[in-house]
Amino acid sequence: VQGFEGAKVAVLGLGRSGLATARALRAGGAEALCWDDNPKARDVAMADGFHCTDLLKQRAFEDVASLIVSPGIPHLYPTPNPVVAAALEAGVPVDNDIGLFFRSFASGDWALFDTPPKVVAVTGSNGKSTTSALIHHVLSEAGRRTQLAGNIGRGVLDLDPAEDGDVIVLELSSYQTDLARSLTPDIAVFTNLSPDHLDRHAGMGGYFAAKRRLFAEGGPDRAIIGVDEIEGRYLAGQLAEGAVDDRVMRISTERKLTGAGWNIFARKGFLSEYRKGRQAGAIDLRAIKGLPGAHNHQNACAAYAVCRALGLAPRVIEAGFASFGGLPHRSQIIAEAGGVTYVNDSKATNVDAAKKALAAFKNIRWICGGLEKEGGLTDLLGSTGQVVKAYVIGREAANFAMQLKGVEAEVCTTMEEAVAQAMAQAEEGDTVLLAPAAASFDQYDSFEKRGADFEACVKRGLKARDT
Ligand code: ADP
Repeated sequence: VQGFEGAKVAVLGLGRSGLATARALRAGGAEALCWDDNPKARDVAMADGFHCTDLLKQRAFEDVASLIVSPGIPHLYPTPNPVVAAALEAGVPVDNDIGLFFRSFASGDWALFDTPPKVVAVTGSNGKSTTSALIHHVLSEAGRRTQLAGNIGRGVLDLDPAEDGDVIVLELSSYQTDLARSLTPDIAVFTNLSPDHLDRHAGMGGYFAAKRRLFAEGGPDRAIIGVDEIEGRYLAGQLAEGAVDDRVMRISTERKLTGAGWNIFARKGFLSEYRKGRQAGAIDLRAIKGLPGAHNHQNACAAYAVCRALGLAPRVIEAGFASFGGLPHRSQIIAEAGGVTYVNDSKATNVDAAKKALAAFKNIRWICGGLEKEGGLTDLLGSTGQVVKAYVIGREAANFAMQLKGVEAEVCTTMEEAVAQAMAQAEEGDTVLLAPAAASFDQYDSFEKRGADFEACVKRGLKARDT
């Protein structure tokens, strides 16, 4: 990180991104003052030679140039974080690693490069990881040097130095775009919008505003916008006004996009690209194993748009799609046995993601439940047509099951029991699908642990049946 040589910078939160931030500051000649409420995290930082100091101490912010906050820490809502409040009180600017990254990146000397590196940033409620990983995969397969970071993979301040022609793909959550003081990607993607994390953004307006910051004035050269929700249509309309023709690329999986702009849409499994009213590319997505369901076709449209904006030919993108294996815990087929398919979509932590998973499969034995998100399950109720039966887990399983009106639901509480029941009752042609529509924290540390437990239970069950 440049620009802080000889200065003191406070770092709050010492997880993956916080530690990377402290290291990058140190490498740039700054002194990092670190803090985390968790003593174990502080131990890790101290072992790395960092000075940990309670930032709530009187005058802790004296002579501090900036406070860098980790994405996991709610800074304003539902209640202001006391360290952030103290920094603001002392007039210290608050930023995050993403802001530092863009500041450093913007000050890089690109005159030395024949092809200056490009930064692609992907945001949206769902599909960010899949879209980012897919872009990264297609570019690598096409022989481009690319690095993947942000909310997925590495922390942004852990990236290798950029080289000629590099593409840096960043997955950015609303927690990250909200706080970053600088956000200047070359290409920015907005996949879709549905309610999530509303407590941290004080409602839907704040949530949309956090994501929109990526497209603020003077923003990206290319804006790729999912227009299947009103917010996307609004944003695309605003960005297109008075802009050069192809600044905005619209994507949809719900409508055939017409109009003179640059449009990419998927219908009935076919992706089509139209530019200035003329067809410029097409891909049959149905044959692509790593991208099942219409929701993945939306991710494919977004990734296609980015790759086109970077100059790749449609057939090169198609070849990249074909070898994409999908990401773990996202509509991931983990086993097929006795005519039953087992699918891990533990990442469906909100209602919209679960709806998409339910739409992608048939004859579903649905394992769901966990820590409910604000807004409840009402929005799910029209989407359970393919559910044969629900097996509900989580501390609030009984309450969750009660809300699933019109669906036969069994309260199982634990994953073990839910898998055993679903497995025993499944018939040929059924899909046993974990798509919780809820966070995992009542029973697991993370959605990854929940997905791994599902997989382990399925594998154990299948093994027991075989012997
Ligand atoms: P994110 O990084 O935005 O959370 P992921 O790619 O990890 O997105 O997918 C999150 C969840 O949403 C998974 O359950 C996945 O099956 C589902 N999903 C993926 N893409 C989409 C999409 N475009 N629209 C809705 N749901 C999606």
